[in-house]
Amino acid sequence: MINVLFSAGAGQWDAYRAPLTEALEDAGLPARIAPDMAPEDVDYIVYSPASGVTDFAAFPRLRAVLSLWAGVERIVGNPTLTVPLTRMVDDGLREGMVEWVTGHVLRHHLGLDRHVATQDGTWLEGSVPPLARHRTVAILGLGALGQACAAALAGLNFRVLGWSRTGATLPGAETHAGPEGLAYVLSRAEILILLLPETPATTNLMNAERLALLPPGAVIINPGRGPLIDDDALLAALERGHLAHATLDVFRQEPLPPGHPFWAHPSVTVTPHIASATREDTASRIIADNISRDQKGAQMRFLVDRSLGY
Ligand code: NAP
Repeated sequence: MINVLFSAGAGQWDAYRAPLTEALEDAGLPARIAPDMAPEDVDYIVYSPASGVTDFAAFPRLRAVLSLWAGVERIVGNPTLTVPLTRMVDDGLREGMVEWVTGHVLRHHLGLDRHVATQDGTWLEGSVPPLARHRTVAILGLGALGQACAAALAGLNFRVLGWSRTGATLPGAETHAGPEGLAYVLSRAEILILLLPETPATTNLMNAERLALLPPGAVIINPGRGPLIDDDALLAALERGHLAHATLDVFRQEPLPPGHPFWAHPSVTVTPHIASATREDTASRIIADNISRDQKGAQMRFLVDRSLGY
C-alpha cells in the first residue's frame, strides 16, 4: 500500500478527494490518500503553500513531494526537504493562463477601456485599433505557461518576443536570452507579460532601470509573481507617464493590503491571484502519473531544480 498525505489545506481536500482517488485507482496504484496520516507511514506528500508541513525530515520514508502549484518559491528552499520535488504543469492551469493573458493583452491592444468605461455620448473618431500584426508583445519566461501564451498570441498575429534563461526557440516567436537579450526584448515590448518564477535571480528583475527600457506608453501584465517587479519603481514609472498601465495579478503581500497604492491607482488593475488555478481533474492525473512513474523506477516529470529554484 502506498500512503499519500494530502497536505494542501483543509478546503482543498473536499475538491481533491474524489478525483485523486480515482486517478490513483486508474493508474493501478494500491494507494491510501488522506489529509492526516502518521508521519512514519507517508510515502508521498501532495503539497500546496496552505500545507501546515514545514519539517519534511519528520517523514522517514518520504519519497517525493508533489506540488499542486506551478510556483514553488515557498517550499524550494526548505532545508528539511531532501527528496525530489515536482511542480504542477497541467492542462487546466495552462488553458486558464492562456485565456487570462490573452484577455488582458486584447484589452490593452484594442483600447477597450475607452469604450467600456467612458460611454459618455462622445463619438470617438479615429479610435480604430491597430492590427495585432503591428503590435509587439513580449513574454519573460518561456516555460509551460509562457510558451502556451506565446503560441496563442502568435496565433492572433501579434509580433511575439520571448526571453528565458536558456533562450528556448519557439515557433512564431523571436526568442532571446541573457542580459543583452533582455534589454533588446524590453526596448521593443509594447505589452510586457511576466511569466517567470520567483527565484533569487528573478526577484526585482523589473527594477527602475529595466522599466525605463520599455517604450513610452508600454503596458505591463504580471501574472508571474509579485517580487518580479520593484513596486516603488513601477509606481514611479506610472506616475511620470512612462508606462500606460499595469495589470497585476500577484503581489509581494497577498491579499494585497487595503491601503496599498495599487488599489486606488487609475493606471493599475488589480486581480486577486486568479490568473489561473490548478484544476482538480487534470492535476490529479498528473499527480497519479508521477507517483506511478516513481513506483516503477522511472523519472518523475516536472522535477524542480533546487539549485535554480524552479
Ligand atoms: P516553468 O515551466 O518553470 O518556466 C519558467 C520559465 O522562466 C522558463 O522559461 C525559464 O527559463 C524562465 N526563467 C527562470 N529563471 C530565469 C532567469 N533567471 N532568467 C530568465 N528566465 C528564467 O514555469 P511555468 O509553469 O511556466 O510558470 C511560471 C510561473 O507562473 C510560476 O513560477 C508561477 O510563479 C506563475 N504562476 C502564476 C499563476 C497565477 O495564477 N497568477 C498560476 C500559475 C503559475 P528556461 O526555459 O531557460 O528554464
